[in-house]
Amino acid sequence: MRDIATPSYTREILEKHGFSFKKSLGQNFLTEPNILKKIVETAGIDEHTNVVEIGPGIGALTEYLARSADQVLAFEIDDRLIPVLKETLRPYDNIKVINQDVLKADLLKETAYFDPTEKIKVVANLPYYITTPIMMHILESDLPVAELVVMMQKEVADRIAAKPGTKAYGSLSIAVQYYMEAETAFIVPKTVFIPQPNVDSAILRLVCRPQPAVKVTNEKDFFQLVKASFALRRKTLWNNLIHRYGKDAETKAWLEKSLAQAAIDPKRRGETLSLAEFAALANAMAENKVSE
Ligand code: SAM
Repeated sequence: MRDIATPSYTREILEKHGFSFKKSLGQNFLTEPNILKKIVETAGIDEHTNVVEIGPGIGALTEYLARSADQVLAFEIDDRLIPVLKETLRPYDNIKVINQDVLKADLLKETAYFDPTEKIKVVANLPYYITTPIMMHILESDLPVAELVVMMQKEVADRIAAKPGTKAYGSLSIAVQYYMEAETAFIVPKTVFIPQPNVDSAILRLVCRPQPAVKVTNEKDFFQLVKASFALRRKTLWNNLIHRYGKDAETKAWLEKSLAQAAIDPKRRGETLSLAEFAALANAMAENKVSE
């Protein structure tokens, strides 16, 4: 069967339908079958896997997913693409396309037809302008997702998968790694898209943890501490902490005691702390807090 994702066939489809790209919707279509093959392999999709795709475009990745998966459910916001998809995906009987903004979709309800004994994976070439909101929407949807294999700007993938002590490490790394194991699977050059984006992309593989990476007393306080620790990147952890929590003697004593208890040198920079260290500090702060 002819692949949608060759440059010549993609152009033929676009011309036939008089399609013009909308930059505002992050429309950069993949035109390299080898990359699609690698994405499906990285995601480990088989006939017992159900896939949620975000932004099928003209169906390049969708058809690759459908060839290996049980069911594929795809959300596409652009109504001009719906008749195109109807035509390009006609050979497949295991694809459902919903014409909706994925951020407004009730993912749990829409996937109710999936076999509950099978795995759900999210696989997508994401629209780059809303990478983080989409990831958050999926995390907050309560959908039991086993894995996400998603393409995004390389720079964002680097930040998500970053290790402590590196420039890319920040609150986004921790927010994601708290729930999932993150690794960059491979880099995708900008030359394999129509139209070409300005930056290279990366495939990020995220495997959901059975429970969060660390045990914290209060998640909200933990994430607040993480955010505060990265607020002024060139300053020490201590400076960031007093900037956020206060400079009065009582607050300083509380912070000093908690840092000592967690065995963390206040002169370190926030970006050197591991997830476990942030958790130890947040838990010590919760324990030592003087109730108002
Ligand atoms: N999957 C195709 C491919 O790899 O060639 C297209 C990927 S393109 C980077 C992103 C797609 O997401 C576009 O088709 C765009 O219209 C769609 N999109 C943008 N915002 C969306 C949203 N909020 N909900 C659903 N789809 C969206």
